[in-house]
Amino acid sequence: MDLRPTPAQLALRREIATWIEANLEPRVEGRDWQRRLAAGGWGAPAWPVAHGGRGFGPSEMAIFSEEMSRLGVPRATSQIGTGWAGPAIIAHGDEAQKRRFLPPILDGGQIWCQLFSEPNAGSDLAGLRTSAEPRGDRWVVNGQKTWSSYAHEADYGILLARTDPASLRQAGITFFAFPMRQPGVEVRAIRQMDGRATFNEVFFTDAEVPEDHVIGRVGEGWRVAITTLMNERTSLSTGAGTLWGSGPSLEDLFSLARGLHPDRLQRQKLAALKIEAEAIRLTAWRMLATNPLAASMAKLAADQWGQRVNELAIELLGMGGLVDNPWTEAFLFSPALTIGGGTTEVQKNILAERALGLPRAR
Ligand SMILES: Cc1cc2nc3c(=O)[nH]c(=O)nc-3n(C[C@H](O)[C@H](O)[C@H](O)COP(=O)(O)OP(=O)(O)OC[C@H]3O[C@@H](n4cnc5c(N)ncnc54)[C@H](O)[C@@H]3O)c2cc1C
Repeated sequence: MDLRPTPAQLALRREIATWIEANLEPRVEGRDWQRRLAAGGWGAPAWPVAHGGRGFGPSEMAIFSEEMSRLGVPRATSQIGTGWAGPAIIAHGDEAQKRRFLPPILDGGQIWCQLFSEPNAGSDLAGLRTSAEPRGDRWVVNGQKTWSSYAHEADYGILLARTDPASLRQAGITFFAFPMRQPGVEVRAIRQMDGRATFNEVFFTDAEVPEDHVIGRVGEGWRVAITTLMNERTSLSTGAGTLWGSGPSLEDLFSLARGLHPDRLQRQKLAALKIEAEAIRLTAWRMLATNPLAASMAKLAADQWGQRVNELAIELLGMGGLVDNPWTEAFLFSPALTIGGGTTEVQKNILAERALGLPRAR
């Protein structure tokens, strides 16, 4: 396969870079940045043109992500909306839901969070116990979610809840577009070791969701969730060159190293990281369009690579690197890379069973 960029890809890269350079401003962040992206036609390039996207496939999206990272664009808070909720609604929602939910996701008017993980249902997501019971024209939700990124800012959440109390595992789960700003919802921040609080616990006490907010069919939410998880893995895995598309990049590590006179072993580690970054990038390019397991492969490789970038930065900086430094926060966040969006062990299980045909783990 010829992985050299085509003239069209080179032109696209230039078009994206020109737009970013003309529009990026330090103080325009979050919803405002998403609004600006949408106004320029870049709000959700992977969405179909009919819904305000550009119909980009994986290689165009990889170019888009690479340029965003290279030029230091902050990840929009609306990433869960544009990257995970929107595609699930486009694939499984009805026309009224698409008209209602997609425009405010696209222009940053509404922020979304993901309400999947529970204290006893992370890797084993099918073990979730948050319940939704029908009552008149609504569902009443009780239970708890955890690790819900940006739930404190969110207007809506994509919620997985058990709607058939007698059901087991994947059956009997329903996928909802859940309104967050209501009395039955309590959001409690979780303080992380990098000092920030981007995660939350979310408690539901007789919280309500209208019946027309069910995405897909009642009891068939697992299918919708799979769409979301595939998109999540893909968007978390293509950012070789940065960590989840934000924070210091490999180029920043090289700049750091130039000023610190790395020894021979450290220079070898730098070279290995550069080679691996290119291998991950090209493997993702080659496979994402054609192989459904590519997202797991790319995520597995990119996350461990990202942790090694941070470890080498801290090694080069010595103890000072852990005190107050642009790398400190990224290093302290980096263990999350191999957990969020499905852990390294879970990706290995997926590849062992589906790519290598090994027997299922008990
Ligand atoms: C940065 C970040 C953002 C996140 N954002 C969200 C969010 O917005 N919404 C949301 O719902 N969740 C979110 N999560 C939660 C994330 O999806 C879970 O942390 C993840 O799925 C793992 O679940 P767990 O933490 O319960 O760990 P567990 O599932 O309890 O796993 C503990 C350990 O056991 C291993 N393990 C578990 N099962 C197996 C197995 N079958 N075989 C081998 N090893 C196994 C795991 O790999 C892990 O090392 C986020 C997590 C992170 C780190």
